[in-house]
Amino acid sequence: MTDLPRHMSVEAFRLAGYATIDWIADYYERIESLPVQPKIEPGEIYSRLPDEPPLEGEAFSAILADLDRVILPGLMHWQSPNFFGYFPANASAPSILGDVVSSGIGVQGMLWQTSPACTELESRVLDWLVEMLNLPGKFKISTGCGGGVIHDTASSATLCALLAARERASGYTAREHGIKNDLVAYCSEEAHSSMEKAMSIAGLGSHKLRKIPTDQKLAMSPSLLTEAIGRDRAVGLKPFFVCGTVGTTSSLAIDPIEEIGQVCGRHKLWLHVDAAMIGTAALCPEFRYVHAGLEFADSYCFNPHKWMLTNFDCDCFYVADREPLNRALSVMPEYLRNEVTEKGTAIDYRDWQIPLGRRFRALKLWFVIRSYGVLGLQAFVRQHVAWAEKFECWINDDPAFELVMPRSLNLLCFRRLGSDDDNRALLQRLNQDGQVFLTHTVIDGRYCLRLCIAQTNTEFRHIERAWQLIQEVADQ
Ligand SMILES: *Cc1c(COP(=O)(O)O)cnc(C)c1O
Repeated sequence: MTDLPRHMSVEAFRLAGYATIDWIADYYERIESLPVQPKIEPGEIYSRLPDEPPLEGEAFSAILADLDRVILPGLMHWQSPNFFGYFPANASAPSILGDVVSSGIGVQGMLWQTSPACTELESRVLDWLVEMLNLPGKFKISTGCGGGVIHDTASSATLCALLAARERASGYTAREHGIKNDLVAYCSEEAHSSMEKAMSIAGLGSHKLRKIPTDQKLAMSPSLLTEAIGRDRAVGLKPFFVCGTVGTTSSLAIDPIEEIGQVCGRHKLWLHVDAAMIGTAALCPEFRYVHAGLEFADSYCFNPHKWMLTNFDCDCFYVADREPLNRALSVMPEYLRNEVTEKGTAIDYRDWQIPLGRRFRALKLWFVIRSYGVLGLQAFVRQHVAWAEKFECWINDDPAFELVMPRSLNLLCFRRLGSDDDNRALLQRLNQDGQVFLTHTVIDGRYCLRLCIAQTNTEFRHIERAWQLIQEVADQ
């Protein structure tokens, strides 16, 4: 006879839970002193782990101890106050605890029936965000037509928007009969790579994605978009989708959504707006210019898991009309049938996404919004933009450096006067040292440093120190 599995007792769980939270709290106490980027070679962590899994269960304390020994040395410290690279992946205490509760209760929210609170809290919190960001009212669930849903990432949101648009453009035949290969989509040259990936996954082909050239501000040119649509029409292709970007990944450039929206209106194209990073800025009335023209959008997404203190993963995806999305993604096997689904009186979020199963992600968002309040979240965003403004002045005042693009909100793209190789070496030395972490981009063919001020734990002194370090290392 085999042994029964050895579950932790409730009492042992309590103790292990306290110890785990203590470990996380200790981590935050020392995170500032850890080198942001790990000094590690590929394969090093893998080889430190045993070849074979344990045959007998181990003590929880032994597992926890290995976090320090094996895992920590191989981490990039995304929650370090000295992290200025890429875009942030903000965690915060309420969000971590919301995620713990979500794991703790372990519910599946695929249908309303499988956990009504999971669906209804999500709908409510997403409606709140429509108000908080001053998004068009059509994105609210309570309108009965549109609504919001939590996805894992902006990449998934973009793919689902594309699938909904594909369904609509095919006269609702694509999912059953497949597609004629004549659909064409558009985004700017600076749009996120997830758009290209979505075209491939949707079976439309990445060559049917037209990357429209950008202007001096690296924003999509509406006149070149119109020309591209005309060219495709002329050869019998069928334009159907435009992805506008509000806050591009390289430089936070903002496409002119209002003009793009008018082009989409004229040609009956689906307009998706990707605001993954800077949608959060619209919490503050003074930054709501980022969403100008959003009333033209068929769908929209932003990531609270970047700049809104919510642990990865959490993308908020909105549609003005649920029908194309649901018709693209809904299938009803017998074993999921229930009275509520038959009557259509509730939302089944599985019809809004690719997987069937779904976690209770709304909990962490709810914890965050209630803990900080709208005012607290606004203050969080404002301080980052104010610090970025300061940083911009420092760069402008130092003749050894130049801004490559004017600052966009909390992002600075700058370089030391000199060659690309000088700047590459500067970045490498900065990051090697471990006291700060920045990344790079290339703008107009020129290599530059890229500093994003948005980390949960960053204070003004970290910004001052970062600038001092950059100057020091550049002088060496
Ligand atoms: C970060 C980002 C993405 C990708 O985000 P995921 O949620 O990781 O898929 C897409 N678009 C923009 C504009 C982004 O900033």
